[in-house]
Amino acid sequence: MAHNPESVFTYGAPRLKFGSGAADEIGYDLSLTGAKRVLIVTDAGVAASGSPQRVAERMKEFGIEAVIYHQVHIEPTDASLEEAVAYGRDLGPWDAFVAVGGGSSIDTAKAINLLTTNPGTLLDYVNVPVGQGKAPTQPLMPLVAVPTTTGTGSESTTVCVLDVLDLKVKAGISHALLRPTLAVVDPSLMVSQPAGVTACAGMDILCHALESYTARPYTTYERKAADQRVPYCGSNPIADMWAEKALSLMATSFRRAVRDGGDVQARESMALAATFAGMGFGNAGVHIPHANAYPIAGRVKDFRPKDYPNDEPMIPHGMSAALTAPEAFRFTFDAAPDRHLRAATLLAPDAEPPADPAAFLPTVLADLMHDIGMPNGIAEVGYHAGDIDDLVGGALKQQRLLAIAPKAVTAEDLAAIFSSSMNLW
Ligand SMILES: [Zn+2]
Repeated sequence: MAHNPESVFTYGAPRLKFGSGAADEIGYDLSLTGAKRVLIVTDAGVAASGSPQRVAERMKEFGIEAVIYHQVHIEPTDASLEEAVAYGRDLGPWDAFVAVGGGSSIDTAKAINLLTTNPGTLLDYVNVPVGQGKAPTQPLMPLVAVPTTTGTGSESTTVCVLDVLDLKVKAGISHALLRPTLAVVDPSLMVSQPAGVTACAGMDILCHALESYTARPYTTYERKAADQRVPYCGSNPIADMWAEKALSLMATSFRRAVRDGGDVQARESMALAATFAGMGFGNAGVHIPHANAYPIAGRVKDFRPKDYPNDEPMIPHGMSAALTAPEAFRFTFDAAPDRHLRAATLLAPDAEPPADPAAFLPTVLADLMHDIGMPNGIAEVGYHAGDIDDLVGGALKQQRLLAIAPKAVTAEDLAAIFSSSMNLW
């Protein structure tokens, strides 16, 4: 129990435009800010779909010049972000930024926005202990986030995630000013997403909802002063509401969206679930599965997932979060049994609870992962018992996330979670 318990929680979210055709209105929305010159940030794959060009075309009608940067690296690195920032600084100034793509494009746009409006280097702003954890001193420009993959929630959050290549670790920049000013969620941009991407992105949505729902309640922290408040304040009644709704939507749409990408209704439900989950975890935070995801993705050996670019090994973000989620929730069960049981029931309303209540959510998750083609644990993506110390070391660097877990997490606890996540079924 906290000595002087917190009594305040905060809730932040971008303005939102949701629905088919919403992306055609960005020019109008930016014209209201007086923007004349805009940088569109995207990756080569999304650029090939023509969506960023369409957004740029529609902006012209409002007298806005748009330049397209299409070199975003999938799963950004410090090197890829520095390259993007250099581009932004060389060709700027910009009145606004528009990110069209997955979390990688949105995160890259956040970094460009931060470092074209504020002095210093990327590592100045990366969270401690990896970077200096400085806060921006200057206001940022408007950022419109247009997700083309359902999942990341990056359109709602204050975070930019990157691989720090020399340290082989994922790290983040987190500040309220990084949150996009407008999220434009247009399901018509998502129909071309292949099954493997839908499955990984969907597991990310699911982990966001489950981790924020089971996050340490805000009232259990020590009371903060006004200038110490952080974007992620622990589970709270408003974030809970979004997480529950996201779980219910996923219960009926996730398997369908993976099986048939043309199922427009399932796609729309997934897009809505991603948005809801983002509004929840963007305020409550995420914990152990996301902390573990950092070293799982960062230390990839030669795994190449289906339906992703094949030019280098990678473990997609949603997959890396999912792989230890069942065992993480078995570990956290006793901190909040009711919440774990309720989450399992929302996600699988017809499932029979097992004799051991702690096994309910892990079983529901493993069944789902099996059905949508996730790997059967971290062994299948290339890890073995000898890697566990390194994985634990990487997860322990994510203290910002581990502090949001509903109970204290030691190195031994993490080692046990990784070990039992070698094979999930
Ligand atoms: Zn995530």
